[in-house]
Amino acid sequence: MTDLTAPNVPIAEFKRTKIIATVGPSTDSFDHVLQLIKYGANGLRLNFSHGTHEEHGQRIKWIRKAAKAAGKPVAIIQDLQGPKVRLGDFDGVINVRRGQALRFEYISKRFDEGIIPTQYDLSKKVKRGERIYLYDGKVRTTVSSVKDGIVHVKAENDGILIKRKGMNLPDTDFGGDIFTKKDREDLAYGSTQDIDYVALSFVQTADDIDNLRKRLKNLNSPARIIAKIETKAAVDNLEDIIKASDAVMIARGDLAVETPAESVPIVQRQIIGLGIRYAKPTIVATQMLASMTEAPEPTRAEVSDIATAVLVGADCVMLSDETASGRYPIEAVQVMKRVIRYTESNAPVKPVFPIYEDSSKAAAISDAVINLATSVKATAIVAETQSGATALALAAKRSDVPLIAVTDSIRTAQQLAIVYDVKSYVQPVSAQAAQKLTDWLQRQKVLVPGNMIVTATGKYPGVVGTTDTIKVRVIE
Ligand code: PGA
Ligand code: MN
Repeated sequence: MTDLTAPNVPIAEFKRTKIIATVGPSTDSFDHVLQLIKYGANGLRLNFSHGTHEEHGQRIKWIRKAAKAAGKPVAIIQDLQGPKVRLGDFDGVINVRRGQALRFEYISKRFDEGIIPTQYDLSKKVKRGERIYLYDGKVRTTVSSVKDGIVHVKAENDGILIKRKGMNLPDTDFGGDIFTKKDREDLAYGSTQDIDYVALSFVQTADDIDNLRKRLKNLNSPARIIAKIETKAAVDNLEDIIKASDAVMIARGDLAVETPAESVPIVQRQIIGLGIRYAKPTIVATQMLASMTEAPEPTRAEVSDIATAVLVGADCVMLSDETASGRYPIEAVQVMKRVIRYTESNAPVKPVFPIYEDSSKAAAISDAVINLATSVKATAIVAETQSGATALALAAKRSDVPLIAVTDSIRTAQQLAIVYDVKSYVQPVSAQAAQKLTDWLQRQKVLVPGNMIVTATGKYPGVVGTTDTIKVRVIE
């Protein structure tokens, strides 16, 4: 047990809602990554919409080294760009007037004729009558025709267009074709690297997730899948997508363009509720502390946004530009942690959706573990878990009891890093892993006489789904 690191706060004060931070130009050094982890990041996201493979590879090395130095497992997330449609390169600003006709062409060389270049061949996907939103929804247009590779649209409001700004196609069916050539290359690269999750952008249906799972299998990758919910189609197919995925991100940036912004808080609650129902971790993403890209303090509304995510039972809150390109990356993580801790210690987490009535044996066992631990007011539950499934099932109960997972798999510990309430320790498989970890916590004075621990273990350590023994242990 020599390379375990004892927690430096009492178990009751562990933060339960986890933090994911995006690594980028503002945090591009070993020291920055170490600080992000030390001040509270549990998962680090690499945004493959930017940066080279070499840059991401360097970040992965820093993260693993820093996690070791900080003594805690950290999840690495490879976020694939997906069919993010963007305008191409052109000089200056295009002024758009309501009612004006615009033309788009894939890598157009005819900008001087007024044909605006795009980085994606829209003409193969869009149909007449569909909407195209430009520049984060600032300019709204409708397709009037598609002819000879050129998409003709009509603008619905005044605005401006600038090169490389995003385009959203809320009505367009990609017919399962959401995985681009770039995604394929990035995924192949990721499979040679030490990553824990792949996040898939612009998912439309559960098939998109199944397809990615096949690709990962072919590449022999152990990475799990995060579905990014950011299209109208994904909202329509929510439950099937969540069931097919391993985790879900509420990607509010694009989601608030593709669906009405006012619908996003409700969808956020639905996703968190379904995540709890199916024991799939949920991540609330984008603009949580947007003002902190420029200012050292958050706005009141941002603090409230984080607190709300915590109260309704999200597994994670995420930082994007704040830590990737903002001026106060470390401060943003510190603020997030403070808000999480204050909220968690002053109000109970109240999931909005009822917890799933599951009649399986595994569900009965996790119910029994939680009920017992709650009635004896246990200091913690110590659960052995191989794949992480036992820990996920226990976490989904959103009980008040801190959860400690013991696993022989570093990968599982890293993947559990972004799961609500779970703190993991890696131990070799043994019949008494939970017992030994409890002894060690006692020697470290993390557990003191009078504390009660509930352990959940199995007769066949290392075999998935064999938890069959629940014990109460009083620390003497
Ligand atoms: P992105 O995804 O940062 O990759 O666009 C998140 C979002 O759309 O909110
Ligand atoms: Mn997005």
